[in-house]
Amino acid sequence: MEYGLNKEVIQYLEDSFEETLQLIEDLCRISAPSGYEDKRAAFICEWFSKLGVNSVHIDEAKNVLVEFDCSNSNDIILFTAHTDTVFPDLDELPFSRDEEYLYAPGVGDDTTCLAILMIVFKYCILNNLTPNCNVLFAANSCEEGLGNLKGIKQIMNTYGDRIREVYTFDGQYVAVVNKCVGSHRYKITVETEGGHSFRDFGNNNAIALLSKLICKLYKCEVPVIDESITTYNVGIIEGGTSVNTIAQKASVLYEYRSDTVECLASMKEFFENTISKFLENNKCTISVEEIGIRPCGNLKDDSILRNMTQKAIAVSEKYSGLKCYETSGSTDCNIPMSLGVPAICMGSYLGHGEHTREEKVRIDSILVGLKITAEMVLGYFD
Ligand SMILES: [Zn+2]
Repeated sequence: MEYGLNKEVIQYLEDSFEETLQLIEDLCRISAPSGYEDKRAAFICEWFSKLGVNSVHIDEAKNVLVEFDCSNSNDIILFTAHTDTVFPDLDELPFSRDEEYLYAPGVGDDTTCLAILMIVFKYCILNNLTPNCNVLFAANSCEEGLGNLKGIKQIMNTYGDRIREVYTFDGQYVAVVNKCVGSHRYKITVETEGGHSFRDFGNNNAIALLSKLICKLYKCEVPVIDESITTYNVGIIEGGTSVNTIAQKASVLYEYRSDTVECLASMKEFFENTISKFLENNKCTISVEEIGIRPCGNLKDDSILRNMTQKAIAVSEKYSGLKCYETSGSTDCNIPMSLGVPAICMGSYLGHGEHTREEKVRIDSILVGLKITAEMVLGYFD
């Protein structure tokens, strides 16, 4: 299949270059930790309102939504980029630029993708373009960490099986994520008798027991099916009272991940068996608190996903001149894919340092990103 952007679109994108940089800056400065995207959402809502879009609204999960409807169609194509960042700051975030880079926490992930998507949709609005199926724009919340994909869950809830395909823009344009890494995250707390380190020597110690449990968890041999990738990790450990106290309580954050449904299920089985065996053989109580569940993909038929991936790769490579790879990841796509809706995650910039305060985006990648995004979106407009 041949794709392309006409001269008028290219001209618009070139003319919108400085406006795009300004929009990235404006958005970057507004802090938006997961669950606290209110100010960013309000800014985006007002931005669309000023363009004369009456239907723009914010839903209960703080997603900003704009529907582009055409009659007689129940098939919705969703384009989305997330508003939240990993930074907990509630005050204004710093932003700077030089000739080569834009610098800000969250500038690439996901603010540049979001700003570019907005500028592309602005073209549709200014030119009154009609979509050839229903198109939904979203600036969604809660993609990062313990946001637990709340934003995309809400969108899939609201529109249900009307959504036919999902494109999320998140990351650099050298990769397309079309395989979902699911994850289960837990806080495991061990409690036992404890006591005085000298007088009660010999009593059970929660830290010692938890350490023993961690060793059991690390005895896991990860399941392998074909090319599947499965991992596990202990991330944070805490507990105890003082150097001369036998610890009564200690806890750990533990996760496992996989890109394959069956492997994720067998990791769950291993985890539950390990905990129950440990309880049988040790004098303690263990509480397991689920702190995050991201499902794997569960597509019955991947022919549409294949087409979406091929197009995304072809378009990315055409404008960037760089090789674009298929990869697996944990993104907003996990939710539609777990519901059987084909979803891919693609990128619209080049940069460094995602999830650090030193993050930066190459200015010369922005126009490339605009073109890639425009070609993906405008294919659904007449
Ligand atoms: Zn992101």
